[in-house]
Amino acid sequence: MSDLILDARGIVRRFGGVVAVDGADLSVRKGEIAGLIGPNGSGKSTMVNLVTGELAPHAGSFTFDGQDITRLGPGERTRRGMARSFQMLRLFRSLSVEDNLVLASHFRMQTGTLANVLRSPAAMAEERALRARARELLGWFDLADFAGRPVSAMSIGQQRMVELARGILAQPRLFVLDEPAAGLSPVNVDRLIAIIRRMRDEFGMSILLVEHDMRVVRELCDQVTVLDAGRVIAAGVPEAVVNDLAVVEAYIGS
Ligand code: ADP
Ligand code: MG
Repeated sequence: MSDLILDARGIVRRFGGVVAVDGADLSVRKGEIAGLIGPNGSGKSTMVNLVTGELAPHAGSFTFDGQDITRLGPGERTRRGMARSFQMLRLFRSLSVEDNLVLASHFRMQTGTLANVLRSPAAMAEERALRARARELLGWFDLADFAGRPVSAMSIGQQRMVELARGILAQPRLFVLDEPAAGLSPVNVDRLIAIIRRMRDEFGMSILLVEHDMRVVRELCDQVTVLDAGRVIAAGVPEAVVNDLAVVEAYIGS
């Protein structure tokens, strides 16, 4: 059995004449945080969208836990245990923070309409368990006081944390995070680092982390892949990769 949760081989994606991803390999080991870094426009977000199935590759293949998922859409990839965070917030602003978390899980379970879900005794027990888990997670983020308040009462940074909590509640096997630290205050970046580490260490989640903030990458990533103009120019442990001459030049040149 492979120790890889995700294995991407020879991925190519073009937009018109632009080759956004140009034959890239990328893998994530089970229980590890794999970083994906590179200058602006190097193809990171395109790669994320290819991993999650929002975009189809022009060449190459993806396997998820040893199974070929190259032709599967995002819904099927989610059902197999992939989750992602969105840079754009996708929360119901007028609903409470806790309801946002619980609702997301109901939609994910797809056990029927929400009305049906709320009626059955089994579903009500599950609902109570979900609410308890949602509140526990909010505690991790120091957001317990916000559980009953509308999302609109939170700062953008706090809303980003709720997005993340929603992803964690789904208990994915691979969590794909595209620049989760972007726009966060230093205090919230520290919180984020602690939480992502906990996702790996306590929940055994595998994480693909696209990140601009090198401090976050150094503190969290077990291995890092560096893209430049859609190609992998380096891969390895963070200490080696950040000192790699080609990587330094790619960043200086950007
Ligand atoms: P990064 O996330 O590393 O900044 P992107 O993956 O967003 O890079 O972009 C890689 C390249 O692909 C850029 O040249 C960008 O302009 C181009 N690109 C990305 N998405 C699209 C799109 N939907 N249509 C056309 N070009 C795109
Ligand atoms: Mg991007």
